[in-house]
Amino acid sequence: MAQQVPLVDYLVLGDNPHLEALECTQCGARYFDRRNACASCEGEDFKTVPVASEGEVKAFTIVSLAAPGIPVPFVAALVDCDGTSVRANVVSTDPDPDHVKLGMKVRLTTFPIGTDDEGTEAIGFGFEPA
Ligand SMILES: [Zn+2]
Repeated sequence: MAQQVPLVDYLVLGDNPHLEALECTQCGARYFDRRNACASCEGEDFKTVPVASEGEVKAFTIVSLAAPGIPVPFVAALVDCDGTSVRANVVSTDPDPDHVKLGMKVRLTTFPIGTDDEGTEAIGFGFEPA
């Protein structure tokens, strides 16, 4: 089997793929990017926590213009995963307002997005209708 690497370092692969966030130990704010201090309370201590793999679409945009090579249209969404906001695309559905709705239940899914010269597969993630 080809070796796989996640596209982003907060995506954890394996039998049960999920996202990991950094949680501020003082106020509980969660982040996906590495940071030196919490934006809410300026705390500097973070722990890694798993993020729920099921969520609800809180906001979305149907993107019809993108850089060359990126297939459009696609759905860029903000998904609330049990209190953690995740920015991701909604996949496995038609990218139109008849199929993507606010409040719709979705779950995390992963998929290969390319293979490098050594045969290592990059894995991306999105959310599909639950
Ligand atoms: Zn904080």
